[in-house]
Amino acid sequence: MQLLDGRVASKAVKEQLKAEVEKIVATGARAPHLAVILVGNNGASETYVASKVKTCAEIGYQSTMVRRDLDITEADLLAEIQKLNKDQSVDGILVQLPLPKHISEQKVIAAIDPTKDVDGFHPVSAGNLTLGMPTFIPATPYGIMLMLEHYQIPTKGKHAVVIGRSNIVGRPMSILLSGNNPYGNCTVTLCHSHTPNLQDICLQADIIVAALGRPGFVQPEMVKDGAIIIDVGITRVEDATAKKGYRIKGDVDFEAVAPKSSYITPVPGGVGLMTIAGLLKNTLVAYENRQEDLRR
Ligand code: NAD
Repeated sequence: MQLLDGRVASKAVKEQLKAEVEKIVATGARAPHLAVILVGNNGASETYVASKVKTCAEIGYQSTMVRRDLDITEADLLAEIQKLNKDQSVDGILVQLPLPKHISEQKVIAAIDPTKDVDGFHPVSAGNLTLGMPTFIPATPYGIMLMLEHYQIPTKGKHAVVIGRSNIVGRPMSILLSGNNPYGNCTVTLCHSHTPNLQDICLQADIIVAALGRPGFVQPEMVKDGAIIIDVGITRVEDATAKKGYRIKGDVDFEAVAPKSSYITPVPGGVGLMTIAGLLKNTLVAYENRQEDLRR
């Protein structure tokens, strides 16, 4: 079993991005700029946003954090997005999800200028991804592809089982793994909460991507010997012995499954770190596209 270490793989991506930014700034140009909107004070969202902003600083990006109260109206949030859409100094816009129930996530995502959609959730980005055209790939599936690339894991002809069909993880992951690209060309089975015989399907998998949000769901009896295991799950599980009162658990029972696997991602320290790497790569592309447009 080899660990797919998100710290190692994300460090490599960040170093590459940092070197790119240094080159850009040395020419006298401004650095790429990511704007993050955070509504309310959900603990997990605060943590994610803080680490995105911190990583921007580490690699030399500019970042702006827009904080709004939980009771912001949908109209006011849409107006904030329009402001950032028009701001020529902003390359990427990210609205941290989830949003409060009175705000339509779909409307908010659709309001982001597709050229600044670094989270890759806009219908234009999703359409391009489906057609295999250049686009912003949702950060988590993109991060997983970067992880496969870092460890040079061959995927061609393999059977990949993706558990979970969300628009931000499972579905785009299934599209990428089935696509005609260097770390794709898999035969993909996309499973969800209505899939019968999940264990039988998983037992046929060369690659399992678990993205359902149920801690410890994937057990060794679901895994064939030598399978590659990618654990996307992040759930806070209460634990009185932990400093914070909780622990982060993945969707895979790591201790039990690891000995059967050929490669496995840990949680924490796996896919989560790659997600930020994917987001920052998208932001550089948004920046470069914008500069290219200005030159035209
Ligand atoms: P979601 O709730 O939107 O979707 C969950 C999916 O799992 C659904 O499609 C559902 O049909 C499926 N599912 C639920 N129970 C199932 C079962 N028993 N059998 C088969 N399928 C089942 O979740 P999401 O936003 O895709 O997130 C999934 C997990 O990944 C969560 O733990 C989330 O916190 C985590 N996540 C991690 C990152 C990261 O950076 N590592 C990013 C996004 C989400």
